Amino acid sequence: MSQLRLLNDDATGHAAAARLLAQGALVAIPTETVYGLAADAANGEAVAAIYAAKGRPSFNPLIAHVADLPMAEALANFTPAARRLAHLWWPGPMTLVLPRRDGAAVSSLVTAGLDTLALRMPAHPAARAILQRLGRAVAAPSANRSGRISPTRASHVAGDLGDRIAAVLDGGTCGIGVESTILAPGDGADVTILRPGSLTAEMLRAAGFIPQLPDPSGGITAPGMLASHYAPDAPVRLNARSARGGEVMLGFGAGVADLNLSPDGRLEEAAANLFDMLRRLDARGAPGIAVAPIPDHGLGVAINDRLRRAAAPRG
Ligand code: AMP
Ligand code: MG
Repeated sequence: MSQLRLLNDDATGHAAAARLLAQGALVAIPTETVYGLAADAANGEAVAAIYAAKGRPSFNPLIAHVADLPMAEALANFTPAARRLAHLWWPGPMTLVLPRRDGAAVSSLVTAGLDTLALRMPAHPAARAILQRLGRAVAAPSANRSGRISPTRASHVAGDLGDRIAAVLDGGTCGIGVESTILAPGDGADVTILRPGSLTAEMLRAAGFIPQLPDPSGGITAPGMLASHYAPDAPVRLNARSARGGEVMLGFGAGVADLNLSPDGRLEEAAANLFDMLRRLDARGAPGIAVAPIPDHGLGVAINDRLRRAAAPRG
């Protein structure tokens, strides 16, 4: 792979990113959740290159990112409930798993052979500008090596994948910091939360939906929910009151810590800091990372989901 191109978050950068994507290249782009590793979703070879660059198992399907609703509806079948969710939360950090349309212009590698397709309309202005210029969907998983910590800055991407991709567009720090909420809408008001994110169960309930947890025996309806994920090199210990045995401490709220997700105990701030602080603590080379307890409501559910995977036994 030739040298990594660094693109600016301006019209020239957006045009260059869209041109590279149209040529089948891999380009990391900022979104409001984390940086995505984008490829033209209709180009099978380009999508295959995503799996290769990440070292991602090919049974783990990708999310297709779209510029607007017509682009989404050309790829998947929307029920009234899905349409209502889209009107409420798109563009934004919500992914909908919907029946894939016959003849949809998406490589079967994107869906890993499933008859459903995961769709998202990102809100980040750079992602939107690139998608509008390209005029078709991109497949874009998080721009990190498979199983590792997701990137929330262009420098994270460059460090992880710099020798494997064509370009990264530097849009600064991602505002939300955890991946999108993945929803499988049901027939009525029921909606299954396949992955928690910043669109919370509380927010769904307030809009009249009935959030459900995935059926644990459901297998492929929640793929990619691999137990070990987001893993630093150092082992992670959760619900820690203090560091022990040379560990570094990731705090939340009051208390002694090497880095603190949010000294005031704000969950939005903690989510935005989570992956960057895990990377920075990991780089210190300590024998372990101890993490303070995080309240398990609202956005805390998504933070705890990522932390449990970071702490899970490695496969
Ligand atoms: P990432 O791209 O790394 O954020 O991961 C994408 C997530 O979307 C993975 O957890 C996938 O399992 C999930 N996903 C993608 N497509 C589908 C689908 N058709 N059904 C259920 N989950 C999906
Ligand atoms: Mg990921």
